[in-house]
Amino acid sequence: MHETIFDEVLAGTIPCYRIYEDEWVLAFLDINPLSPGHTLVIPKERAAYLHELSEESSAAIGRTLPMLCRAVMEATGIEDYNVLQNNGHAAHQAVFHVHFHIIPRLEDRGLDLEWSPGELSPEDAEDLLAALHRSLGTDD
Ligand code: 5GP
Repeated sequence: MHETIFDEVLAGTIPCYRIYEDEWVLAFLDINPLSPGHTLVIPKERAAYLHELSEESSAAIGRTLPMLCRAVMEATGIEDYNVLQNNGHAAHQAVFHVHFHIIPRLEDRGLDLEWSPGELSPEDAEDLLAALHRSLGTDD
């Protein structure tokens, strides 16, 4: 995986507004916030995509995310927020180092979502389940 700007943030060669740090995780304010308090939570491990992340880093992210959401809520006074994690160009990923956005939702600021749901047919569901169970090795 190539070096990204977040390697420099982790190394301290690019400054950031640091919110939290432990052995596995760093959280800091997004430099171009969608709303006040927009926070990035990143593993220290260098991985481009979520599906590449080690169990240790995944567990550390899982441990810290809710705590950081609570801190963002308390610090900003908001109750509603989105947690966003983009993978791949088409999915709006710009920095290819795994990161989770915590984005406070205000009336006029935050993450704007275009949500166009379809319908899940029983046939599609069965096909998908079979493929997913094969992938997970739970298809016995
Ligand atoms: P993505 O679209 O990859 O999910 O989002 C990358 C995020 O990283 C963007 O919201 C962008 O503002 C933020 N970002 C990019 N470079 C820097 C930086 O050097 N410092 C900080 N704090 N945030 C950055």
